[in-house]
Amino acid sequence: MKIITRFAPSPTGYIHIGNVRSAIYPYLAAKQSDGKFILRIEDTDQARYVEGATDLIMDTLKWLGLEWDEGPEIGGPHAPYFQTQRKDLYLDWAKKLIEKGRAYADPTDSDTIQGYRDADNAKKIPYLYRNHRPETTPDWQPGMPIRFKADPKPRNWHDEVMGDLHAGPEVQDDIILIKKDGLPTYNFAHIVDDFLMGINMVARGVEYLSSTPNYLALYEAFGIDQPLLVSLPHILAPTGNKKLGKRDGAKSVTEYRKDGVLPEAMLNYLACLGWNDGTEQEIYTKDELIKKFSLDRIQNSGARYDEVKLLWMNGQWIRKLVDEQGIDTFYPRTAGFWPDSAANFSDDYKKQVLAIIYDRLKTLSDLREMTGYFFADPTFDTEQLLANKFLKKLSERELVDLLNVSIEALEKIADWNSDSIKEVLNDLLVKTNRKPAELFSLIRLSISFAPFSPALDLTLNVLGKNVVLSRLNRVKEALSLDNQ
Ligand code: GLU
Repeated sequence: MKIITRFAPSPTGYIHIGNVRSAIYPYLAAKQSDGKFILRIEDTDQARYVEGATDLIMDTLKWLGLEWDEGPEIGGPHAPYFQTQRKDLYLDWAKKLIEKGRAYADPTDSDTIQGYRDADNAKKIPYLYRNHRPETTPDWQPGMPIRFKADPKPRNWHDEVMGDLHAGPEVQDDIILIKKDGLPTYNFAHIVDDFLMGINMVARGVEYLSSTPNYLALYEAFGIDQPLLVSLPHILAPTGNKKLGKRDGAKSVTEYRKDGVLPEAMLNYLACLGWNDGTEQEIYTKDELIKKFSLDRIQNSGARYDEVKLLWMNGQWIRKLVDEQGIDTFYPRTAGFWPDSAANFSDDYKKQVLAIIYDRLKTLSDLREMTGYFFADPTFDTEQLLANKFLKKLSERELVDLLNVSIEALEKIADWNSDSIKEVLNDLLVKTNRKPAELFSLIRLSISFAPFSPALDLTLNVLGKNVVLSRLNRVKEALSLDNQ
C-alpha cells in the first residue's frame, strides 16, 4: 500500500525535538512505499501563531532532507496547504453535518456554559456538553460556534503502535467544530483535510489518543474510512518519568543546528529515538532508514532523550562523512564554526587543521574551542605549565634543558613533514631518556597550551616549523627568566 501521509505542524515558533520526530516517521513510511509526504500548516489557532514560524519549519525540514511532495512553496493538487486559507471549506463541511442532523449551531453564551461546568463539578459528575445540548438550535450565523452532535457508544479501533484499543461512551462529546471566530478547531479541520488530501496514515503524538473516539465518530458521521492511526509515544526527559520539556536541557532543533550538529546525525538520532530495526545497528543513512523503517517496530512506551548519545552520534557522522567524502567535500560545512582568529587563514590551511582534528569533534562548534592555537599564539601561563601532572616532577632547569635539545633537534629538520617530525621526536625520547608523557606534554603544552591536541607530529607539521620553534623558544625564555 502506498502511504499518503502528512506532517501537520502548528506554527508556534519553537521546533521541539518531538515535533521533528513526528515528521520523520511519516516521511520514512511514505518514501518506503513510494507514497506521498504532504506538509500542511495548521495555523487556525491564532492565539498561538508566531510570525516566521512556518519558514522555520520549512527550513528545518529542508535541512534534515525531509522534502515534501505537496505543500507550501511547491503547491500540489490539494492546495492551499495553510488551513487559514481553507477556512470556507471547513464551514461547508460543518454545514453538511448540520444538514445530516449531526451538528448544530450553538447559541449558548460562555457564562451559561461556565454555569453548566460549575454545576457538574459541584455534583461531582463529569462535565460533558452533550448533557447540556440546547433543545432548539438556530440557523448558523457568523460568530456562532458549530458543535458536533456526539453519538456516544463503545468504540474499538486499532492503533499501529498501541495495538487494539477500546473507549467507552464517556469520552465522546459534542466537540466544537467551528469556533466563534469562524475558524475550525484542530479536531475538525484535520479530519476534513486528511480526507480531502487522500491521507491514509496519520502519525502524531500520543496526546491525541484520548480524542480519537471523537475523531472516529466524525469519520463515521461523514461516512469516510479512517486512516491508519499511529500514535507516537512521548519523548521522555533525561531523568524521571516526565515528558521532555524545554527545561530539560534539550535544545530546539535550530539551536543544535547552530551548534554544529549535522542533519544526518539529527535525523539518525531522532529516527532511532523510539524505533529500532531489531539489530544492534546505530548509524543509519536516510536511505537505510527508508529501507528498514517499519511502523510495527516503533516502541509503545516513551523513549528517553539522551543528548550525550546525540552528540556521540554526531561525532560518528563527522568521521563517516569525512572518511567517505574526503576533506575537500566536507570542508564547506565547517564555515562559520572556526574561531574568529581563523578569519585570515587560507582554506587550505584550515583544511589541514580539519584533517587532523575531525575525528575528535563531537559538534562542528568544537572547532571553535579546539583549534584556537592553530591560528594565534596561545596565552601561556608558566605556573600552570609547571603544575602539569607530568611536568611537576621536573625542575625548571630540566624543563629548559629539554626544550633546548628539542629546539635544536627540530631546527635541524630540513624537510618539515609529519614523518620527519615523528622520527625526531622518537630520537629525542631515546636521547633524553624521558617518558613520552613528559617530553611530549612539554612540547604539546608549549605549542598549544591545550590539554589535548591531535597527534603531536601531525600538529607540529600543520603549525609549521617557524611557529613551532618560536613557541618553544618563547616558553624556554619564560622558564629561563623564572630561573634567574
Ligand atoms: N497541528 C498538530 C500539532 O502541531 C498536528 C497533529 C497532527 O499531526 O494531526 O500538534
